[in-house]
This record gives sequence, structure tokens and C-alpha cells, in this order.
Amino acid sequence: MSQAASAVVPTLAAARAVDLSKIYGTGETRVVALDSVSVEFGRGRFTAIMGPSGSGKSTLMHCMAGLDSVSSGSARIGETELSALGDKRLTHLRRDKVGFVFQAFNLLPTLTAYENITLPMDIAGRKPDKPWLEQVIQTVGLSGRLTHRPSELSGGQQQRVAVARALAAKPDIIFADEPTGNLDSRSGVEVLGFLRESVRELGQTVVMVTHDPVAASYADRVVFLADGRIVDELHEPTADGVLDRMRRFDTAARTS
Ligand code: ADP
Repeated sequence: MSQAASAVVPTLAAARAVDLSKIYGTGETRVVALDSVSVEFGRGRFTAIMGPSGSGKSTLMHCMAGLDSVSSGSARIGETELSALGDKRLTHLRRDKVGFVFQAFNLLPTLTAYENITLPMDIAGRKPDKPWLEQVIQTVGLSGRLTHRPSELSGGQQQRVAVARALAAKPDIIFADEPTGNLDSRSGVEVLGFLRESVRELGQTVVMVTHDPVAASYADRVVFLADGRIVDELHEPTADGVLDRMRRFDTAARTS
């Protein structure tokens, strides 16, 4: 696409927060977990959210995924304002538009890898799109493991099943919370490579919370949070670049 053409095409956001605040508790226990955060997560992009412990990463992810309510401001998935939805419609939105990958793989031990991947669609009474499912399974490299149960798979393979499960229903956006947190570094690299591939080759949108600069370097963009605010961002990050940025935050925090 030429520069002139790209200038007139608005960036499509898969999800967007505008002046989003989240406050827990009242009085002495009041905590401002998110302080007027505005951020867009571009469609078909891989975004990492980083920041020190307690900076609001999980809260931002939970509010954007409709797992937690917002105190003020707006959280949208596509054009849908989450705070305008009642519980039932929110549940449907999460089921139909959002994929989740958690640190614990959350696979059912009695089901095979294939059954785990298709379980959310089975529950929703939806037929899987077979060619898509095959593409996902092939991209994840699980073709030879589909009849195995989770206990017969390595940690990396189990997490790839969890990623395939999130991708299978073609969600508008996948939220991954420290998806490599429980993996050895080789399995972690495997899962991160696959997440990046799902963005590049399948056009998936992924938002990943991580504290690991190497994990963040797989993303197209890193958004940094501190004290509930977005304080910086990096595009096309390298692990060294992310580490350098984190060190500067540490120094600023110590001298302020
Ligand atoms: P991070 O994911 O970056 O570690 P969190 O989003 O978990 O940060 O937390 C941000 C702030 O909000 C922290 O001060 C945390 O203690 C507080 N917080 C998070 N969840 C709750 C909750 N359910 N009740 C009260 N305070 C909370």
C-alpha cells in the first residue's frame, strides 16, 4: 500500500480503551489500578503489555477482555462498548469474540488435545470450521499429537493446545496472560514463535501481558505501564531495547 493510501485508511483497532480508570476499594483501601488509560490494540497486531508488578497490567487486560468492570471511561472490543452490555451479552461476547491463554494451561485432563481445542465451540453449540481448524493445528505443529491427553504432552505442547483452542473459534482478539510463565525457555520460545506466526500468517490479534523482555521482543509493539498509566511504548522491539527501557524506569522510580 502506498503512503498516500495508508494515510487515508484509519487504523482498525481490535480493542480500544479511552480514559479507562479502575479503582478498587474505598477510603484507606482505595487503589487506583488504572488511571485514565487510553490505548488501541491494532487488528492483526501482536502487542505486549509490560510494567512492574502492581502497575495495572492484569487489570487492563481483565477490563479489556470483559472479565472485570471499569470504574469510568470506555473499553471496547471492535465497536462494542463493554460497559453497555449486561451479564448475558458480555458472556456471549467473551465466548464469541475473545480468546484467552493463561499461565496455567487450563486443559481438561480427561480430554484429548483435539477435544480440548474444540471444547469451547462444542459448549457454544458451534460447528468448527474444518479447514481453519486444520490450518491452526498444522501451524501449531500438533498434527501428530491430537489423540494425546494433556498428561502425555510436554508443557510447551500443552500451551500450544491452549493457544490453538483460543485460535480455533476465530476470536477478534486473544488475550494472553504470561503465557510462557510456566514453561522452560525452549518451550517458551516455541509458544511465542507460534503466537507471532498466528499474527503474521493467520491475521490474529494478540495482546500479551508479560514481564519477560525476551517474550516482549516477539511482539510488534510493547506498551509500558507504571502506576496505572501508560508511560511509554516501543515498536519493533528487541529484547535489549525492552530491557534498556525497563532499566530506565527503575532508575527514574529510584530517583523520584
Ligand atoms: P500487575 O498485573 O501489573 O501486577 P494488577 O493489575 O494486578 O498489576 O494490580 C494493579 C493494582 O491494583 C495493584 O496495586 C493491586 O494491588 C490492585 N488490585 C488488583 N486487583 C485488585 C482487587 N481485586 N482488589 C483490590 N486491589 C486490587
